[in-house]
Amino acid sequence: MDAAPYLCPACRTNRTRFTLIYHFAQQVHKDPRTGALTFAADELAPLERAGRPALDVRCEICNFQGNEGVFVKAAQKDGPPGQRPLS
Ligand SMILES: [Zn+2]
Repeated sequence: MDAAPYLCPACRTNRTRFTLIYHFAQQVHKDPRTGALTFAADELAPLERAGRPALDVRCEICNFQGNEGVFVKAAQKDGPPGQRPLS
């Protein structure tokens, strides 16, 4: 899936320039009065979504942001580049 082509579903022109946004979870304990951290886990755990790393993608052209799946689906639906006449 890492090599799946992306197509921005919003502007439908961008297939090449994206920002990947990763989500990590860190367990912390806080002092209820001061808000100070009394414990912070060393590990950042990657968040998962349906068994895959939760990964958002942002289009660098129009700034649309959504989960990776919508970019992959848009590319699959649209087919490979160059097979449709440009309008
Ligand atoms: Zn876009």
